Amino acid sequence: MEIEKMDIKNTYLIKINDKKYLATKNLTPGITYYKERLFKTKYGELREWIPYKSKLSAAYLKKMDIKILNSARKILYLGMSTGTTVSHISDIIEEEGIIYGVEVAPRVMLEYINRVAKHRDNIIPLFYDARIPEQYKYVIHGYVDMVYCDVAQPDQTEIAINNSKIYLKKGGELFLAIKARSIDASREPKEIYQEELNKLKNNGFKILEIVDLAPYEKDHAMVRAKKISSI
Ligand code: SAM
Repeated sequence: MEIEKMDIKNTYLIKINDKKYLATKNLTPGITYYKERLFKTKYGELREWIPYKSKLSAAYLKKMDIKILNSARKILYLGMSTGTTVSHISDIIEEEGIIYGVEVAPRVMLEYINRVAKHRDNIIPLFYDARIPEQYKYVIHGYVDMVYCDVAQPDQTEIAINNSKIYLKKGGELFLAIKARSIDASREPKEIYQEELNKLKNNGFKILEIVDLAPYEKDHAMVRAKKISSI
């Protein structure tokens, strides 16, 4: 087994024979959340971060710069689902940071609570609709350094913008997973991505990167954008 330290805290690339596995250092040794593999190494227990199950892992393996995770103290995560990606962000930022995880589906939230919440103190689950961001103002004090949005809805960009207007600090970064088929299954993904990028530009964002998530996800892109004005 060969292990390479990545440019993100607590993140490694494990090579076994001709296979490579991205992994984060498990903040909760012995516990897994989505049937990911555990590796005992000289760096401690590492937990496989599967790109076919996490778009952030896919984006990182496709060379997106996610270095903001090295310094982010507060993160707003929209569409937390049962906590696959959020559990790895939690490994990376450890107890120095906090993640506010918004999820609207009751059954999904219940599964998250049973599976992840009891093991991890740096995630605050928020059972709310991300379309009404004012509802969780009483929990989030001040601004966050990063907003991550993966709600897979036709109005996902508007949801990301409206939350960022309230909670993202100027200079902070937005990560937006765009699922072209959720917006319009009959049109070319590239055309849809361009429209969503224009919405971000018209709402005070500078586009830093856009990465196609193939082969891990079909017709999906991850956008990284910086909030440059507070309009
Ligand atoms: N980000 C997750 C991960 O990588 O582990 C996967 C997210 S899944 C593609 C989309 C999630 O967004 C679903 O769990 C869905 O219930 C949630 N969602 C959809 N609309 C929402 C809304 N308006 N507010 C909050 N969550 C929403």
